[in-house]
This record gives sequence, structure tokens and C-alpha cells, in this order.
Amino acid sequence: MKIKPKAGQRYEYVKQLLGTNSLHTVCQEAGCPNIFKCFESGTATLLILGDTCTRKCRFCLVNKGLPKEVDLDEPVRVARAVKELGLGFAVVTSVTRDDLPDGGASVFSKVVREIRRFSPGCEIELLIPDFAGSRESLTAVIGAGPDILNHNVETVPRLYPLVRPLADYQRSLTLMANAKEISPTLTTKSGLMIGLGEELNEVIEVLLDLRRAECDIITIGQYLSPTPDHLPVARYYNPHEFEEFKDIAQRLGFAHVESAPLVRSSYRSAKQL
Ligand code: SF4
Repeated sequence: MKIKPKAGQRYEYVKQLLGTNSLHTVCQEAGCPNIFKCFESGTATLLILGDTCTRKCRFCLVNKGLPKEVDLDEPVRVARAVKELGLGFAVVTSVTRDDLPDGGASVFSKVVREIRRFSPGCEIELLIPDFAGSRESLTAVIGAGPDILNHNVETVPRLYPLVRPLADYQRSLTLMANAKEISPTLTTKSGLMIGLGEELNEVIEVLLDLRRAECDIITIGQYLSPTPDHLPVARYYNPHEFEEFKDIAQRLGFAHVESAPLVRSSYRSAKQL
């Protein structure tokens, strides 16, 4: 689980470019352990709709509270940064904005269109919130034409009240199933953190639920507590156990599985299409 933080030239360049364009990343806001590797390879997961979330997930380092006004210039700045980074594959996510009527769906759609305008060949993965279950918002985002639609279930249903109290497991599953109904050829993806107190059979049940919703890609990573104020790690899994989860997920029919301790939702996404 040990990583060697290496902030080389490319890392500094990416960080500076993000700062110049007043852009946030989930890499920085959520304290992702892979930030050195990803920034050094010139990639980052852009976080739109501000840096303050209306939810209170107890594993997440992102600021919580009352978000600021929507920044309407953000989509163009995101697209400009994607172009300047020369990304062939861009991952865009957001905080949850329950304060907005469409949950921010129109901003997601604008970001896709602007990236397509600035970088026509760039592939796009959107890691979306649950839009409070709004099918209209989901349809609008899918209508913009992302290549991968990602929505994390994060943990097993029994732990939702503890881990992500304002989220709803069934709502997230329905979102995944609706995405395939709205666009049957769209590649869908979800992610799980383990080490929060789940049982093996509960993890398998979640994988089965996601396959029933025709989810194509799954990421499974070790939960790490960002600070002592966040949920403690209930258990560390060894790399061999991640291999076993990978094997189970592949046998359940996932087209692509990333399962290892430091795997995070958008880690190595470019290799998953
Ligand atoms: S919805 Fe939860 S995980 Fe996502 S940014 Fe908000 S608090 Fe973090």
C-alpha cells in the first residue's frame, strides 16, 4: 500500500495549468493516492460544479456544505485544459448538487460539447452523481454523448446509512439500468471500495446487481481513510484477494475489471474502452 510521492516536471505543469484555469480535480479534493502517477503521466479527473458537495459521505475528503453559484464559464475552461494537456481520454466528475433543479446535468452536457469542440478526437468518461434519481437529468447527460458513463455504488447496501447517508443504493442501481435503457450501446461503469466492513457475499451480491443492470466495467479498490475524522478502515485486503474479486467479476460477465488496492474509479480509464 506504500506509494512513493514523485512530483516531477509534468506533475508541476499539470498542477499549474489547473490553477491557471481555476479548475478543480477530484484527485486533489479527495486526496487520491494515485495523484503523483496520474499527474506525472499528464492526466487528471476534472471536478466540475465547484468544490463543495451537498452530500455527507463519510469516506470522502471533498468539502461539504452550501455550494457557490454555478460557474457558467467552467465548461470552456475544462475543454481548454483538456486540449492543453493533449488528453486523448478525459474523465470529468462533479460534486453532488442537490441544490440545483437538474443536479448540474446541463453543465455536464455543456462540458461534453465543449470538449468535443476543442478536442474532436478525445474520448470522454463522465463520473456522475445520482441526480436525485432524475431520469430527465440522466437523459440529458447521455444525450450529450459520453463514451463511458460511470456512477459509483461505492459500497454494499447494508452500509449505506453509515457510509453515504444521503445516497440510496436502489436509486443508484436504477440509474445504471436506466442508462442502458436510454442508450443500449453506451458503455456503463461503476465502482466499489472495500474495507468498510462488508462481507464477501455482500460484495458478490452488488456485482450481481450491477450485472443485472448490464454494467460493463467495474473498479474495486481498498478504502483508505483520508483523515482520522473519516470512517476508519475496517479491514485491509491483500492483493491476492483483489485477484479473487477480479476473477469473480470476470466470471459474472463484466467486460473489464480493475481490482487492486490502489484502484480508484477513474484510474487507467483510458484503457477500458
Ligand atoms: S457525493 Fe459523497 S463521495 Fe461524492 S463528492 Fe459528495 S461527499 Fe464526496
